[in-house]
Amino acid sequence: MSNAARQLELGQASPRCEVCGVPVSIKPTGRPRQYCSNRCRQKAARSRHIIQILVSIERMKADLGIEIAIDWSDEDHRVA
Ligand SMILES: [Zn+2]
Repeated sequence: MSNAARQLELGQASPRCEVCGVPVSIKPTGRPRQYCSNRCRQKAARSRHIIQILVSIERMKADLGIEIAIDWSDEDHRVA
């Protein structure tokens, strides 16, 4: 059983994974963990990356004074 699951059972107040909300174990040494797993850490990194792209698009739009149309529709859901 993972440390996160054990802490959940104990009901300890602990920092939670920023991605999935699972309590993460606190290490006596080193920095507190923000994520329960590498998977969540990578997911968060990807989200941050996307947000950075969105922010730069907004900045570009403001700088250039133009509207950029973004097609958010998923390729898979498009009717062929
Ligand atoms: Zn997580």
